[in-house]
Order: sequence, then structure tokens, then C-alpha cells
Amino acid sequence: MPKKIISIIIPFFNEEKNIPLVYDKLLKVFNSLQERYNYEIIFIDDGSVDKSPEILENLTNQNKNIKYLQFSRNFGKEIALSAGLDVASGDAVLMIDADLQHPVELIPGFIEKWQNGAEVVVGVRNKNNGEGLVKKLGSLLFYKIINFIGETKITPRATDYRLLDKKVVLAFRRFTEHGRMARGLIDWLGFKREYIYFNANGRVNGTACYDKIKLIKLALNTIVSHSLLPLKLAGYLGIAITSLFGTAGFLLLIGKYIIHNSFAMSFTGTAELAILIIFLVGLVLACLGLVALYIANIKAEVTNRPNYVIRKSSFDRKI
Ligand code: UDP
Ligand code: MG
Repeated sequence: MPKKIISIIIPFFNEEKNIPLVYDKLLKVFNSLQERYNYEIIFIDDGSVDKSPEILENLTNQNKNIKYLQFSRNFGKEIALSAGLDVASGDAVLMIDADLQHPVELIPGFIEKWQNGAEVVVGVRNKNNGEGLVKKLGSLLFYKIINFIGETKITPRATDYRLLDKKVVLAFRRFTEHGRMARGLIDWLGFKREYIYFNANGRVNGTACYDKIKLIKLALNTIVSHSLLPLKLAGYLGIAITSLFGTAGFLLLIGKYIIHNSFAMSFTGTAELAILIIFLVGLVLACLGLVALYIANIKAEVTNRPNYVIRKSSFDRKI
């Protein structure tokens, strides 16, 4: 039987110090696995402006199993991961960060779970050494919100350190959306999953390139692309306000001008005006909710997600 190929994809942005380190470590792991597996390591240079391109060029010349893609500018890690998945040719593809926060020693464990039938093996962080309180709270809040309102459930602390079977990779390539978070989409795909728990190491060199603003943007984008609830809430609120103030206004008019109730008579013209205005604001919000329904429809068409994902097929065609 021919040896299976494992592709490793490593997106990076300005990691000149870490690339040689992660490369050495990976090489050791694959030397120990070489009887059963071949490997390819695909580095995706997400527009680095340090020495990493030259370092990588050297590595590519030394070792034919190293490949690399270089982006014209910084597109972000999610897009870099997608590019890696587009070009990887392995039977399984493993995504890993360049900063050594993901322990490479676990790779044989990932492979074993895959060989035992898992189609997606997800690395889940126990805790992240050296992560600030703000980031911890932020990520807790993000997972709470997305799992409460989103249509796709995302495992908290699940990282991008994951192995995907070739079928999953082929399915992933069919996504056409632009604002994307790779792990959210992989979770959406389904497939048989297994988890590997690990303690994230501290970053070896450099600082995290994902600053807080970028993370907040990514979180907002993910919430918006996985849920319409915020927009629909405006609609619900509008309906509630309009029905409440519509009824109140109606009763007031009857009380004041028809049955001359003394309580209703005590309302001034200004108060009536206020009720009318709130009623109309509610109407506007309700209409926003209606617009949300149309947007939902357009969004579903425009993001153009595949309608289904196939695991196996007896048809002789590429899934
Ligand atoms: N990265 C990237 N493009 C970017 C930012 C980061 O490819 O615009 C890479 C980075 O080099 C590293 C991985 O994504 O390999 C994780 O980034 P980082 O350590 O900054 O984030 P965190 O560990 O906080 O998730
Ligand atoms: Mg990191």
C-alpha cells in the first residue's frame, strides 16, 4: 500500500524567528513517522514584511517537501488557511500555527484518531498560558453569544489546530463566502469529529499579531454571518412597542373623546403626541425586522453555501 500523505499547513505573518523552530520540530515528528507517512509542509506567507520570505526560500531549496504560497499582502489568517486548504494534496491536512503555541508532539495523536475513523480532529485548549484577562473574557463572551444566537454551534476553546480528512477539505473548498472564520465553517460542515485536549504553550518569539481590534472585527463578522438575530430583534421590539402603544393610544382616544373618562381626560396633548410618536417608532422598527427577513433571504443566496455536504458517494465523480 502506498504511504499516505499528511499535509501540514502553516499560515504565518512575520514569523522569521519561529519558522526555523517549527520546521525543525515538524521534521523530527515526521522522521519518526516516515515508515508509514509521507508529508508536505505548506507555508502560507500572509504578506510578511520581515525576513521570513528569504528564510522560507532557503528551506524550500533544502527540502522538496516544503512548499509555500506568498500572498501579495496581508489577508488575514482565515484566508491564509483557506488558501492552504485549496492547495494541500494530502490524504489528511493538519493546520497549525507558526508560533509553536500548538504542541507538535501531539501530531501522532491527531493522525491516530484520524486513522481510527475521525474525519475532523479538533485541538481544544485547556488553558492558554500568557493570555490576558481581557482576551479570556472576550473569547468567553464571544462563544456564549455565538452559541446562543448562531445557527452553528462552535466548541469553546476549540482552536485552529485541527486535522481534516481529504473529504472535509474537498467540501471546504466549495465555500464561497468572503468574510469567513475557518473553524466556524468546519464546524458547520459536520463530519465525524474527535477532540484532542492540550495546554497551549506561550508564544515563543514575537507578539500575537491578532490585536484586539482585529479579534473584535473577526468576532463581529462571525456573529453577523452566522446569525440574523440582532436584526430580527429590532423587528420583535418594534412589534411589541407598536402593539402596546397602539392599544394604549386607542383606549386613550376612546376614553377621552367618547366616554369622557376622567383619567383619560387628564392626559395632555403632549402626552398623546408622545404615545403617537412611540407608536410610529415601533412601526419603523417592525419594518426593519421585515427588511431583516429579506436580507436573510439575500444573504443565504449570496453567501452561496453548498446546500449539502457529501461524505461518501457511489457516483463516479469528485465530491
Ligand atoms: N497569522 C497570519 N496572518 C495574520 C495574523 C496571524 O497568518 O494576519 C498567523 C500567525 O503568524 C500565527 C497564527 O496566524 O502563525 C496565529 O496568530 P497569533 O499567534 O497572532 O494569534 P493567536 O495565537 O492569538 O491566535
Ligand atoms: Mg499565537
